Amino acid sequence: MKQGKVFVISGPSGVGKGTVCRLLMEKYPFLAGTTVSVTTRSPRPGEVDGVHYYFRSEEAFDEMVKQGLFLETVDKFTYRYGTLFSEVERILAEGKNVILEIEMKGGKNVKARIPEAVLIFILPPSLEALTERIVGRGSETEEEIRRRQSEVEEEFDQADGYEYFVVNDVLEDAVEKVKSIILAEGMKDSLASVKKNYFGRN
Ligand code: 5GP
Repeated sequence: MKQGKVFVISGPSGVGKGTVCRLLMEKYPFLAGTTVSVTTRSPRPGEVDGVHYYFRSEEAFDEMVKQGLFLETVDKFTYRYGTLFSEVERILAEGKNVILEIEMKGGKNVKARIPEAVLIFILPPSLEALTERIVGRGSETEEEIRRRQSEVEEEFDQADGYEYFVVNDVLEDAVEKVKSIILAEGMKDSLASVKKNYFGRN
């Protein structure tokens, strides 16, 4: 069986990348799985430890860094986030592609360590639409909203290395586009390995 690939899905806060990923998993559960990251921030209402994140103290996070458990970590908004190797391996072992819903710095770090990783950037239809979504979500304080807005442009500046850009205008369409990317990437191969499969020689 061909091994799954690692796909990084990033985009500005409020762009709906979480929803895109969730719907993708719901519709195509055998295609890909998402990892659960570790974070030092507190759970938002409705967030469950071990499902949305592993919520850990700064000390516990540091200890995990020391133990070399992370594929990548990032400091963001005074909190820390990290992707565990064990999460990636768990999904690959299920024969699925891995989806990392992480921010751009993390995406670039993943690409540096796993060059075959595919980086996908989810775009809002417009910057105005993005602000409306963040305000509508109602989970951030005004100060947090301002801070996240000011980071949007910065995030775009950091997005080099991203190869696919998907506009999340109609949610279902965005899900289908991401699915197409995953399927197309899965068909990429070298002639040498195809020949080896079919004829047992290069
Ligand atoms: P939130 O606090 O809103 O859940 O996430 C804030 C940002 O951190 C989002 O852009 C999210 O994608 C990103 N993020 C979540 N987990 C990780 C992770 O493990 N690594 C990195 N680099 N970013 C993450």
